[in-house]
Amino acid sequence: MTQTQMRNQDMHAIGVDIGGTKIAIGVVDAEGQILEQVRVETNPDDAASIDRAIADASNALARRYEIGAIGVAAAGFVSSDRTTMAFAPNIDWRDYPLGSKIAELVEADVPVVVENDANAAGWAEFRFGAGREARDMLMLTIGTGLGGAIVVDGNLVRGRWGVAAEVGHMRVVPHGHYCGCGHEGCWEKYASGSALVRDAKAAVVALPHLADRILELADGDRRKITGPAITRAAQEGDELAVSLVAKLGRWIGEGAASVAALLDPELVVVGGGVAAAGDLLLLPARAGFESALSALGHRPVARIELAEQGNEAGIVGAADLARR
Ligand SMILES: [Zn+2]
Repeated sequence: MTQTQMRNQDMHAIGVDIGGTKIAIGVVDAEGQILEQVRVETNPDDAASIDRAIADASNALARRYEIGAIGVAAAGFVSSDRTTMAFAPNIDWRDYPLGSKIAELVEADVPVVVENDANAAGWAEFRFGAGREARDMLMLTIGTGLGGAIVVDGNLVRGRWGVAAEVGHMRVVPHGHYCGCGHEGCWEKYASGSALVRDAKAAVVALPHLADRILELADGDRRKITGPAITRAAQEGDELAVSLVAKLGRWIGEGAASVAALLDPELVVVGGGVAAAGDLLLLPARAGFESALSALGHRPVARIELAEQGNEAGIVGAADLARR
């Protein structure tokens, strides 16, 4: 490692996590601790206002901390040179030079690096969370969709064009549910919070004698069923909710076994909102993984663990990747 690299990695960096309606911006030290954090509202239809909000918050933080880099994480396809949002599902970015737009507005002369949000979260787990002892890791961020991050031999895998690790769009069911990506049967249509809610809405109709608690938490209206409500009912021991969470866990584990056929990771980290279900999700995921793993009994079985970094993973990972 050169002296310059050592200096950069020791510096504080700003990490930015751009969500659909909010931006979280924090100062992250070399150990992955957030020293200060602010949140601002965003208008997803106004890209320039997002640039401005990030720059304003970064300028304010940079007056109080010595900053070496700014890392910006968002959902979408990021160019392999980490400067441009090629495409985003929630914000009107099409080949949008997000990094240079923000850099123009930032007073400090520091690099501004753009990262995919799932990659940033996975990197935070790898460096400071559940994966800190690992070299080869798969991270699954399971929220509305299923985001992936892959670390091979200590390096984040970006692919030739920056869009590697889109594991949520592996086809797991031929001609299965339609996916927003334009295909059918993608893994995220089965292993995501959206899939959990879809299945719950169907189950309360098909199994009304088991539906009382889930419907009660949705004010009696099946259209109002949410992922957190299903998780809560499962934690209370509700039979239907437990089985729905277990089914989600099986899908997570079985799909992870396909990834293991390709990458042979030592660790699979499960994060995102559904991770709140804990062992109710994790134990079926491990069982599903073993059931679908090739040549079981003749190879080590990767561990499947819950993420440790929580909602701040995007900030921490983006900041740490930016100073590298
Ligand atoms: Zn898809």
